Amino acid sequence: MSKKIVDNKSFIKRNLFPVRINDYMSLSGKYDDSAYLLYAPLNKRSMLCSEEQINAWRSQLNASGRFSDDNLNRLLLDNQLSQDQGFVCSPRDVYAMTLLPNNICNFSCSYCYAAKGHGSDEMSEQTLKTVLDFFIDPDRISRRDLHISFGGGGEPLLSWDRMLYAMRYATERADKHGFKVHFSFASNGSVISSEIINELKRYNVKTNISFDILEDVQNRQRRNYKRVCQTLDMLLDNDIMPTINSVITPLNVSRQCEMVEQVHRRFPKLRRLTFDYVVDGQLFSTPDELRSFLRDYTTHFYQARDLGFSYGTIDVSSIKHHNLGMIKSRACAGGFDVNAHGDISMCFFVSSPQETLYDDFIYGHVRDGRVEYDEQKFKALIDYSSNSRDDCHDCFLRWNCGGGCLFHEKSYSREMLDEMCRFQREFSLIALLKQFDDE
Ligand code: SF4
Ligand code: SF4
Repeated sequence: MSKKIVDNKSFIKRNLFPVRINDYMSLSGKYDDSAYLLYAPLNKRSMLCSEEQINAWRSQLNASGRFSDDNLNRLLLDNQLSQDQGFVCSPRDVYAMTLLPNNICNFSCSYCYAAKGHGSDEMSEQTLKTVLDFFIDPDRISRRDLHISFGGGGEPLLSWDRMLYAMRYATERADKHGFKVHFSFASNGSVISSEIINELKRYNVKTNISFDILEDVQNRQRRNYKRVCQTLDMLLDNDIMPTINSVITPLNVSRQCEMVEQVHRRFPKLRRLTFDYVVDGQLFSTPDELRSFLRDYTTHFYQARDLGFSYGTIDVSSIKHHNLGMIKSRACAGGFDVNAHGDISMCFFVSSPQETLYDDFIYGHVRDGRVEYDEQKFKALIDYSSNSRDDCHDCFLRWNCGGGCLFHEKSYSREMLDEMCRFQREFSLIALLKQFDDE
């Protein structure tokens, strides 16, 4: 069934998006061609309706700018959420920072986005102190809850002394100036000790472990299956409940249910799994290959999510799924990611001078006791991901997706990006429709 061209301006102008379901899901056979979802992202509501209702509502909006039913006005038009929830427009306003304490890694994962930059560099204590003095500063920022995450570049726990120094210093400074700092980190799960466990508990650090769950897949993509299992056992025995981040590639795309079963059997205390598909502009040679992979990803993701739900304890999510709960006026919230050399990047995906996009993404430095940044470059970088593109304007995901991020934009061809948009709409529509399954 081809897509009908209809004029939805009167809806879109009011941040309402009529979506004819079979434009995306005709293969499911579940909906007839006149079935619509009316999506109101800024009211966090959606409703199933017919084409006839959409046509009647379009006439009402064209005539008076309102619906004739006050209840509908209240639910869909009034009290829309702010379109800028926590987005920063200058490095002066950042409240979330990522520290990449080294570029050292003891793994060599097949899909590692940071592999080119691996080496032996660690962030100095002086750099950490300088950037924390800047970050936790009552003269810079008025909001009092701040977020620091430790990530890679490399494996952050291989620089445990730097991480610990940063958490101690940040906490002392936060206490002194009336801030609350929330910590998190992402690790490959190879490094753990009683001391690390104790400090993670002391500083209430949110723990993320990258792990591909199935032994054969982990050992092909990341290796070290047994070692990571030991780390998870130790964390769980000490009541630290990590989120597991698994990368979905062609190797495990159809095995997502098996992954949930394995977690249920082997690590019954685990609660949160994120299954994100691999970001690699070179992996698929044609848009059709990418489409087929993303369709498989969608099908098996929702089966795995339903299975986790049926166990009553396991939440399977992903960045794209999580985005449906967010309101975004642009794709990138505005990153402040400091690498081992003290350079400040817009995105932790681009953290090493060996990467071709490095000069594009670096907008500042921590050096000689000072934090310096190029405000104009920061602004240009965040504006680049603005959802003002023509395609985004009419897209029902514009307030959840924000227009796609600059890293994706630079990593994929236009045809591939179009496939990713198509996938994102199908994937999100399924999530929006699932809420009606039990009604
Ligand atoms: S553990 Fe992380 S940084 Fe290390 S090779 Fe794997 S993906 Fe790359
Ligand atoms: S899914 Fe694509 S078209 Fe829609 S808002 Fe995102 S980038 Fe724009």
